[in-house]
Amino acid sequence: MLQPSRRAFLTATATLVAAFWQPNSSQGQTTRTRLILLGTGGGPRPRQASSASAQVIIRNNTAYVIDCGNGVARQLVVADVPLPTLRHIFVTHHHSDHNADYGNLIWLAWTAGLRTQVDTWGPPPLAKMTRLFFEMNETDINARIADEGRVPLVPLVHVHELREGGLVMRDDQVTVRATLVDHPPMVPAFAYRFDAADRSIVISGDTARSDNLVKLAQGADVLVHSAVYLPAVDRLVARVPNATALKRSIIAGQPSAEDVAAWHKRPASRP
Ligand SMILES: [Zn+2]
Repeated sequence: MLQPSRRAFLTATATLVAAFWQPNSSQGQTTRTRLILLGTGGGPRPRQASSASAQVIIRNNTAYVIDCGNGVARQLVVADVPLPTLRHIFVTHHHSDHNADYGNLIWLAWTAGLRTQVDTWGPPPLAKMTRLFFEMNETDINARIADEGRVPLVPLVHVHELREGGLVMRDDQVTVRATLVDHPPMVPAFAYRFDAADRSIVISGDTARSDNLVKLAQGADVLVHSAVYLPAVDRLVARVPNATALKRSIIAGQPSAEDVAAWHKRPASRP
């Protein structure tokens, strides 16, 4: 078990990363589990300075994507992650800043050469969303199968709707568990934990204080947690007439970075 060597908090308007890990020198570069934050901005509105929520965990050239905010496919390319390495997609909940490019990621990865199975996991109606997405885009999909000789896309995608926490999946790289978090009116909403041989990573999605999440994150090396940066909220609401109500709405159920740090604080080690 790795011991914390440092604790760092990176705050953005929506995502906070608590890093408790140290590189494991016994692991070679090719097997080291990597986490890349592809998008840390809050809200679906496209912005110049940040992208919507998305993360990728990479191990042995296998990509596990968590949430698909707008631009996730391009963010993977910018991060130098080959799109055909996409293997699993985990959706925390169905706010558009977390799922707007769910279908686009699969579709565009396929146009970039994906020929292998993709499993997707998340709350209902993930199966309906997937089916309707492919139906909506069947003109292009059928044309590329006919013109470019691509493998049929629809059979590659296996959808798994999650309704409760617990073991999600396990392969030879990682074990993935989920827990229910508190993000009304999105029910269910999930956080995910990825345990690999060299480190464990937890992605909170959006949530208010969640005892389930505190439990899921215990002993993890890295926790990526949503958080509201209160000065930014003040600047945002200053531009609208109903500032008080909007501020109340934004911060209801959204913790500050300080809140998150307090909830997940490790007990002081005894001398
Ligand atoms: Zn949300």
